Amino acid sequence: MDTFINLNIVPEKDIVAAFDHMTAVKSKIPSPAYAVVRTLGCQMNEHDSEKLAGMLENMGYTIVDDYKKNKVDLVIFNTCCIRENAEGKVLGRLGELKMIKRSNPGMILAVCGCMTEQPHIVDIIKKKHKHVNLVFGTHDIYRFPAMLEKTLETGRNVYDISSTRGEMAEVPEGLPIRREDKTKAWVTVMYGCNNFCSYCIVPYVRGRERSRSPQDILNEIMRLDAEGYKEITLLGQNVNSYGKDLAKNNEKPCSFALLLEEICEKLESNKESSIKRIRFMTSHPKDLSDELIDVMARHSLICNQLHLPVQSGSTEILKKMNRRYSRDQYLALVDRIRAKMPDIALSTDIIVGFPGESEENFEDTLSLVKQVRYDSAYTFIYSPRVGTPAASSPEQIDEETVKARFNKLLDAHNTICKEINDTYLGKTVEVLVDGPSKNDPNHFSGRTSENKIVNFIVDENKISKKDIVGKLIDIKITGIQTWSLDGEM
Ligand code: SF4
Repeated sequence: MDTFINLNIVPEKDIVAAFDHMTAVKSKIPSPAYAVVRTLGCQMNEHDSEKLAGMLENMGYTIVDDYKKNKVDLVIFNTCCIRENAEGKVLGRLGELKMIKRSNPGMILAVCGCMTEQPHIVDIIKKKHKHVNLVFGTHDIYRFPAMLEKTLETGRNVYDISSTRGEMAEVPEGLPIRREDKTKAWVTVMYGCNNFCSYCIVPYVRGRERSRSPQDILNEIMRLDAEGYKEITLLGQNVNSYGKDLAKNNEKPCSFALLLEEICEKLESNKESSIKRIRFMTSHPKDLSDELIDVMARHSLICNQLHLPVQSGSTEILKKMNRRYSRDQYLALVDRIRAKMPDIALSTDIIVGFPGESEENFEDTLSLVKQVRYDSAYTFIYSPRVGTPAASSPEQIDEETVKARFNKLLDAHNTICKEINDTYLGKTVEVLVDGPSKNDPNHFSGRTSENKIVNFIVDENKISKKDIVGKLIDIKITGIQTWSLDGEM
């Protein structure tokens, strides 16, 4: 691995200062102190929440999961703004917390994440939710301890919105992380997005692309390996453009394909390595290179699964979405992927009812879904986001038409999904065990390399329930559901 100098990194002195603020907060809060971290949205947010929880633990808080059951000292909402209903949910919860705060006035309430990068949302919070003590965005998570210290010290609300710094925001390294899962871990490889799809708010709230240095990523993965993690998922809004910004700062560029190859080689060279699976998301089809396909095909460590958001099957709509690929280019890419990995499980995201979508455009999406035959698809009804070009389009589609199209798409996809799952009947698959079902402690579930959920009953003659979590075990598939498989050990 070449030595990269990442000029995007938060200066070490600022991280040291963050730890000083954590110590200062610890001296100001009661002991014991309890905190709840609530997350909405994508894996990036989930992982940010693990960093927030890591810092909170470092400050002396014990993380609990419910602010209604327990009297807690701090509640933080890490928010999402990708769809309107996610925002509505948070604002509703803030109203609910007003009542809770009345009986527990010392409780600190914080709101952060993508939603708070939007000035109109901050205005709403400032005017209607004065009981919120702390508001901050996505870029400066490492400044959270300083903000918390300030609000504890002064009793005043702190609003620290950094959207204007988004383009230059630096990558924080060395923050404590409290990982929820002890088997699977997320590793961020890059932040932000440069693509400006016309419906998407992400580039506005997460800023431009900033890659972590390959060395920092590798170091983190090696630590996870030493800690016994079995699966890692590399995260980025568009992992396929990883390294482009590093190339500006270094003589030698590093692509995502190179990074992945390096990670695989390093793990494969260690026979004792605990990491057995690597996933990554999200891949923008326009940036997915043939080199990456080759790396995926070469290394069995990389799961036999790829999330490849298509969004629409109509070239006309893709153009309006500013996706910068056509239907034919997408289908050609799928062919290239399947030529190297014939049984790969593909998943996708699809938006129904994008402004201007005609019946014919929708039929194109339907036919693409039938042609590609995705293992899973996240289908969404278009949700206008303030500030994006699509939101101001005069061609918005009426609700009834969108719902009818959405249901038609869902029916077609569900049929395909069940047909694909049917091919698993009688096969034996390797499953990484997640844990027991919430409703029935005798039922466990796990995932295959293709990301299929497999439910099964533990045979305690073979392995005890407490030992099975995090193990890779063989399961024979005996039953098929639309969204999952049933099996026996
Ligand atoms: S690639 Fe497009 S959809 Fe994905 S985060 Fe960037 S702008 Fe949004």
